[in-house]
Amino acid sequence: MIREIRLLLGDQLNPQHTWFEDKREDVLYVMMEIRPEYEYVIHHIQKITGIFAAMRNFSDWLEEEGHKVRYLKINDQDNAQSFSDNINSLLEKTEAEKFSYLEPDEYRLDELLLDYCKQLDIETEMHAAEHFLTDRQDVKAFSKDRKSLIMEYFYRNLRKKYNVLMDDGDPVTGKWNYDQSNRKKLPKGHEVPKPITYQNDLTEVYEDIQKAELPYIGEIQPNEFIWPISPQQATQLLDAFVEKMLPNFGRYQDALSDDHWSLYHSRLSFALNTKMLHPLQVIEKVEKHWRQNGDEADIAQVEGFIRQILGWREFMRGIYWMKMPEYANMNFFEAENDLPEWYWTGETKMRCLSKAIGQSLEHAYAHHIQRLMITGNFALLAGVEPSAVDRWYLGIYIDAFEWVEITNTRGMSQYADGGIVGTKPYVSSASYVHKMGDHCKHCHYDHRKKTGEGACPFNSLYWHFLDRHREKLESNRRMAMMYRVWDKYSDDKKDELRNQAETYLSQIDQL
Ligand code: FAD
Repeated sequence: MIREIRLLLGDQLNPQHTWFEDKREDVLYVMMEIRPEYEYVIHHIQKITGIFAAMRNFSDWLEEEGHKVRYLKINDQDNAQSFSDNINSLLEKTEAEKFSYLEPDEYRLDELLLDYCKQLDIETEMHAAEHFLTDRQDVKAFSKDRKSLIMEYFYRNLRKKYNVLMDDGDPVTGKWNYDQSNRKKLPKGHEVPKPITYQNDLTEVYEDIQKAELPYIGEIQPNEFIWPISPQQATQLLDAFVEKMLPNFGRYQDALSDDHWSLYHSRLSFALNTKMLHPLQVIEKVEKHWRQNGDEADIAQVEGFIRQILGWREFMRGIYWMKMPEYANMNFFEAENDLPEWYWTGETKMRCLSKAIGQSLEHAYAHHIQRLMITGNFALLAGVEPSAVDRWYLGIYIDAFEWVEITNTRGMSQYADGGIVGTKPYVSSASYVHKMGDHCKHCHYDHRKKTGEGACPFNSLYWHFLDRHREKLESNRRMAMMYRVWDKYSDDKKDELRNQAETYLSQIDQL
């Protein structure tokens, strides 16, 4: 007889959770594919397919392990397409006296389930999700009595707490941070290993999505789905990353390339964010590899990688829980422009943008510098309204879940939070794009030209951005040098730059 119903969300696929240690006859796990979760923004087809496939695999695994599972597929007749209606119907059909769920990572779902529980007249419980290395409120607690929120100190604290890359209480090699040695572009002729991909046949899942007529963007090869869809595949991807990519991860972490869509990046974010992979599993594997093969993957590579997971990932989650729901409405620069139409097609003459967007549509993936310094940078310079930017990022990337998407997009990339995540806006002219890669070589525009025929739009838009937001930015010490440069320009030159930028802004869909 079923006494307890336990809900598992699509991003809660952690096989190591303590819930699964006991096989209880009186517990029914429920998992569901429901329309509203795939309609509130338009998602990439690979994201929907990947999540459904990973959920279905997880449900099969639970059953093989001897657990009872009710899995509702998107087209099932008795799927009422809502969490509450589906659970109500199971409560009616069983003798359940308790409803439990795991701590959701998204504010919207957290509220929805809290409200739902208030309506029930049986016992309810929210159980720890047992995934992250910090609690929801840890960043808030850490920042108490500190003037500013700096990821670095939060991260160092976690290194100590989890004894990661530490020797007798000190950082291994005596240094905490290797960012300075990790900013190289790819040398000429450098060969990047082929990305490690799967060829999962997800035709059945894909056809279910077609039949349900869920809206979507992007491309897919359903019989050759490249992303991991089980904890086993996620672990294999991690192992392969450590062997092939880690030795160069940090060094080329910020590089841009016309030929390589993921360079030395791990592409573990989907597996991590759906919880198929535990962050500590990743960190321990990487550290162990370094301790055993120190020469091969030197400390700068390893530290650079661990900092992303132990530092940035945990930090962003903490900011999310500290600042939601206000965070979702922050718009420091009062930006209100539309997202250029070519964000949905990649059809722009700007090579770096067309490459970053094109591969996002093709693979549901772009690496960090493409998200930050290409698509994010341009949207910020073009004054795009942050909610439109958020919707795009939340939809297009396979790893996009609001807690980590919004903090990176609205926070790190758009500075819409006025400096909670970053100490200054991540904006640049074409010189950065040129310095970090080879897109400019293949571009219609000239990265050296600021104005006139063929001038790269990043150049005038950069100065226009600084000029129009002077009041908000000039007191920021990290921006002072750029204002000194601007102030040295003649009035004519300033006007030329302003006019050029305004022309580009007025024709943004044609750029
Ligand atoms: P790698 O470069 O191999 O890094 C390893 C891991 O570190 C990642 O898998 C990720 O778990 C973690 N990580 C790295 N950078 C960050 C970061 N800034 N914040 C949190 N975790 C980080 N990441 C997401 O997981 N989901 C998102 O929706 C998302 N949206 C972003 C939007 C913008 C505008 C920007 C600038 C960044 C965004 N990021 C997001 C962070 C980062 O770009 C991705 O985590 C990374 O590109 C995923 O690819 P990867 O697994 O190959 O990462």
